[in-house]
Amino acid sequence: MPGCMGDARPWPLLEGSRIVFLPLGSWEQHGESMPLYVDTLIACRVAEEAAGRLGAAVLPPLAYGVSGEHRDFPLTVWLSPSTYCSLLTEIFSSLESHGVKLLVAVNGHGGNRAALEACASHWNYSGRALRVLPLWPWEAVRDLMEGEVHAGRLEASVVAYLEGASYRGEGRTCEPLYPLRRTRECSGSGSVYPGAWESDPDLGERAFKAMVEYTVGEARRAAEVLGLRLDG
Ligand SMILES: [Zn+2]
Repeated sequence: MPGCMGDARPWPLLEGSRIVFLPLGSWEQHGESMPLYVDTLIACRVAEEAAGRLGAAVLPPLAYGVSGEHRDFPLTVWLSPSTYCSLLTEIFSSLESHGVKLLVAVNGHGGNRAALEACASHWNYSGRALRVLPLWPWEAVRDLMEGEVHAGRLEASVVAYLEGASYRGEGRTCEPLYPLRRTRECSGSGSVYPGAWESDPDLGERAFKAMVEYTVGEARRAAEVLGLRLDG
């Protein structure tokens, strides 16, 4: 996975950073054809593009997440919500001590959402000098989802666009799923999507660009609320 190593600039050029992006991913199954790093890759690329547009710095990703729902698939690694929040809180504290005012957490994994949002609001409401904006860029492409929950056509299309590869799979849907049942209790392939699918890089490009726009817009709005100046 090229890229996703964090900002390439040396420290003298990062001094005075007030707005920083943090990509949040996972290491979990993404159906029978895609790699386990999908969420990390997408979060990274969205964060890198958005940070570049706004002249902000970007951190390396947190490549493990709250993935217990996928634990029945090989090599999936999952953190508990409390460990996840502890890790995040130490990242927040480190950045706060450097004078960072806004941390934009670009999250690529649905299972992280509840833990991230609870953790961020607890932090923000305790009156810190650094504020955390938790973002779920998939929000921007809801209308393209077609009943997709995990590792279906849209997610595969974004990865196909980013990696120049092509993927296909067979999904299954069933209700209720999370948080009552784990993925494998429903879909043997790991894809939670109504039926067979094939990736489409053009659809992936459209979705990726919409996710970047959304992220840039939300970050801009937060910067404005906090009275921070943006370069881009
Ligand atoms: Zn995913």
